[in-house]
Amino acid sequence: NSGHSSKKKRMSCDICIEDGIPSHAMTRMECGHSFCNDCWKEHFTVRINEGESKRIKCMAHKCNAICDEDVVRKLVCPELAEKFDRFLVESYVEDNKKIKWCPSVPHCGNAIRKEDDDGEVECSCGLQFCFGCLGESHSPCSCLMWKLWSTKCAEESETVTWMTANTQLCPKCSKPVNRISGCNLMTCICGQHFCWLCGGATGLDHTWTSISGHSCGRYNDDKEWQLERAKRDSNRYTHYHYQYKAHADSLKLEDKLKKSILKKAVLNSETKNQAVFNDYNWVIKGMDLLSRSRRILSNSFP
Ligand SMILES: [Zn+2]
Ligand SMILES: [Zn+2]
Ligand SMILES: [Zn+2]
Ligand SMILES: [Zn+2]
Ligand SMILES: [Zn+2]
Ligand SMILES: [Zn+2]
Ligand SMILES: [Zn+2]
Repeated sequence: NSGHSSKKKRMSCDICIEDGIPSHAMTRMECGHSFCNDCWKEHFTVRINEGESKRIKCMAHKCNAICDEDVVRKLVCPELAEKFDRFLVESYVEDNKKIKWCPSVPHCGNAIRKEDDDGEVECSCGLQFCFGCLGESHSPCSCLMWKLWSTKCAEESETVTWMTANTQLCPKCSKPVNRISGCNLMTCICGQHFCWLCGGATGLDHTWTSISGHSCGRYNDDKEWQLERAKRDSNRYTHYHYQYKAHADSLKLEDKLKKSILKKAVLNSETKNQAVFNDYNWVIKGMDLLSRSRRILSNSFP
């Protein structure tokens, strides 16, 4: 009972082997495969109820094309469309947790995918970083511990800077004494008077510009004096901090060494035979291992 006008528009579906389906009851995916709406709906319903959302594939045999989200939404019932959207959001959030940009500066342009959301990764640009906090690699420390430690280090160096600017060590008992008044005479709780500028022991008798019997020559030479003091105060860093820094520093050195070896290796690979290049490969692997274990060692101090 079909009208003559729609005769040439009738199509067939390869899934349900139905002929004479009007074209408006057929849907063609971007891959070019076209099936009837009832078959698509059936397909989407099964997939969504299985918890799938973003990667629902075309029904055609061996076609890996992903079905367009809008088409899926349009063809299923409203309740299922809602479910589909919820799964979509969830899977995007899930994906975002698994994909992060490499934090290299300048940015290398790479995104890294990882199944669990912490631990260390290495970008193809060579940067090793923590996938959890995007900071430098810090195993065996947890991200939280690492953050606390970094904050503490920053605060500590701030404290040292403040101490350098505002305290002077007593020449008798070695306690740090805060400078309170504006003149250059300092008095320690042990009773010792001393000069703010040079730290040398003095008597109490003084004026604004001089301490009687004391001439350290620092009154006009502030810059040099600051330098000297900074040098001495750096010794006040605590032992473990020093240890940490020592390891971190050698890590930097080894990094430099690795790069120069790599450069040599590349140069050699162009001129010499493969065996030589393989030798370098071995050295580079060794260096990698060294820097990795060094990092673990230095990070175990906090
Ligand atoms: Zn297809
Ligand atoms: Zn069909
Ligand atoms: Zn990178
Ligand atoms: Zn971390
Ligand atoms: Zn004292
Ligand atoms: Zn005074
Ligand atoms: Zn002095």
